Amino acid sequence: MSVRVKCPHCKGKAIITNSNDLAKDIKDVFYKELYVQCIDKEGCGARAVFGLDFKHYINPPQPDVVSMARKILEQQEQLNINGV
Ligand SMILES: [Zn+2]
Repeated sequence: MSVRVKCPHCKGKAIITNSNDLAKDIKDVFYKELYVQCIDKEGCGARAVFGLDFKHYINPPQPDVVSMARKILEQQEQLNINGV
């Protein structure tokens, strides 16, 4: 993942100097703190912390789609075998 940030104070160029993965031990949760420093030539030199979290998928991961399709097919085969 590539992220660009601007200084929240002067909107100048800023870089991420460090990050802290707060949810690394929690399944299906993604939350990071990004430590940011303003490095703009005419900037303010501020340092700040941003939060980066996962909201939702636009397309589900491919293995999920395949396994969902496989489950539906298996259920239909079961119904056919049982004569329903
Ligand atoms: Zn700044």
